[in-house]
Amino acid sequence: MKTKAIGLISGGLDSMVATLLMMKQGIDAVLLKFASPFFHSDIINKQTIEFMGLSARVVNMGNEYFDIIKHPQYGYGSGFNPCIDCKMHMLSIAKRVMEQEDAAFIFTGDVLNQRPFSQRKNFFHLIDKRLELEGRILRPLSAKLLEPTIPEIKGIVNREELLGISGRSREQQLKIASEHNLSGYSQPSGGCLLTDKIFSKRIKDLLNNWPESTLDDAELIKHGRIFWYKKNLIVIGRNQNENRMLELLLKSGDVVVEINDIPCPVCVIRGKDITDEVIQYAKGKILEYTPKAKGKSVDYLIRMKE
Ligand code: SF4
Repeated sequence: MKTKAIGLISGGLDSMVATLLMMKQGIDAVLLKFASPFFHSDIINKQTIEFMGLSARVVNMGNEYFDIIKHPQYGYGSGFNPCIDCKMHMLSIAKRVMEQEDAAFIFTGDVLNQRPFSQRKNFFHLIDKRLELEGRILRPLSAKLLEPTIPEIKGIVNREELLGISGRSREQQLKIASEHNLSGYSQPSGGCLLTDKIFSKRIKDLLNNWPESTLDDAELIKHGRIFWYKKNLIVIGRNQNENRMLELLLKSGDVVVEINDIPCPVCVIRGKDITDEVIQYAKGKILEYTPKAKGKSVDYLIRMKE
């Protein structure tokens, strides 16, 4: 019977090669792919996806994950990315699945020293220890530079066939991918919005204004131009797609401001105290971004989402 292991995949090159290395050793890989509004949001409503001919489970990260982003124990990277806490959270879920599936170990696409914040040896140790998973997390791409794990010691996995990669170069991974005709992987960092400087600033402003905000609010600030006025959030669409998205994201109590008879962007106000003064401010903003209304006297339509 094949040994079962839980693999964390991001869809990037590293996790793809790590999975390949495990498959080549006859490991039965149960794959988990994590999704949140900050990364892989295109798969957020799916339960499984295809990955290298395998069916990977999609794990949606909810408000519990947002709480981790708000208060990370190990701080942030260069943006608003709490990578150590984030990885610990994902691995704690993987641990649960490992126990449910009676799997022998977990593997990841981590590469030692690839990222200065979360991929250092001491952080690998810390994560493994905190989760009580010492010896049970195999990092096939850098295994030869790390302590042997239990599956290596037991001979379930042949350490000699694992790699000893350190640093940012992806030369070896690309070579392996091309030798095995692997393609379709995403770019480094998997498009995590939390590493993006502009989005990080939006999240910071959101949490400064509304410490109690939820993922719905974080989803809203991914789109449009953002303004804050007296603790109210005002979002103005920049194009048709964003206008459509803003309409879809409306929730009860949101106020929408439009200009009557003139094509204008969608303007959403969200807040606990949307006074006339706030609406006046939003009217000024929408006028700024409606060139066809310049110099004209306009009427506004105001509606509230029920
Ligand atoms: S880059 Fe984003 S998804 Fe990846 S570990 Fe950091 S916070 Fe988590």
